[in-house]
Amino acid sequence: MSSDLIGALVDASAAAITTHARELTELDAAIGDGDHGLNMKRGFDALLASRDELCALSLEAALQKAGMTLVMKVGGASGPLYGSALMAMGKSTGGAVDKLQAAVAAVQARGKSQAGEKTMLDVLVPVLAALADGGDRERVRQVATDAVAATRDMLATKGRASFLGERSIGHIDPGARSSCLLVHVVCDVLEAQQ
Ligand code: ADP
Ligand code: MG
Repeated sequence: MSSDLIGALVDASAAAITTHARELTELDAAIGDGDHGLNMKRGFDALLASRDELCALSLEAALQKAGMTLVMKVGGASGPLYGSALMAMGKSTGGAVDKLQAAVAAVQARGKSQAGEKTMLDVLVPVLAALADGGDRERVRQVATDAVAATRDMLATKGRASFLGERSIGHIDPGARSSCLLVHVVCDVLEAQQ
């Protein structure tokens, strides 16, 4: 039932963000303004607060509502980016590949960005490729984890980290890390529901 899935996704994503909020903030302190963990926690706490309402909706409607909540509640660049990603997933009537494709397109449009610029797209784009290629959950989780590590050597050309120029090299991108956490949550929840 979609209410079980929605509830599990809300619980697990809020728990993962809470557990890793400090780490996300520390990553952002190195190449941004040190608020990514707080921003994400504010957003996912708001999703937890609207858990019952979300569970009463279809998966598509819940994704759209959750996206709007993130846009409204999360300060910083990441709120509108994750928010439009979820809204686009909710508008897509297709399966997992189509939904993630729509999310990537929404982030690219909203962020005027693409993979290779040291952002969340450097996780979302390879994850989409792995999924489209028929990768199983184990593979998708590994691709996400490896993609986060690969942001360390990248030069940031979008977002606050781009203000650092060459000094952005040598640090992991906070949004790539939060995207990886969320990819793992979705894989884990889907696996547990089987
Ligand atoms: P802010 O940078 O406004 O403080 P956050 O700290 O919450 O917002 O989020 C920063 C993260 O947002 C970055 O680590 C990066 O992954 C992502 N990001 C920033 N700008 C863009 C963009 N134009 N396109 C894609 N992702 C972006
Ligand atoms: Mg920040």
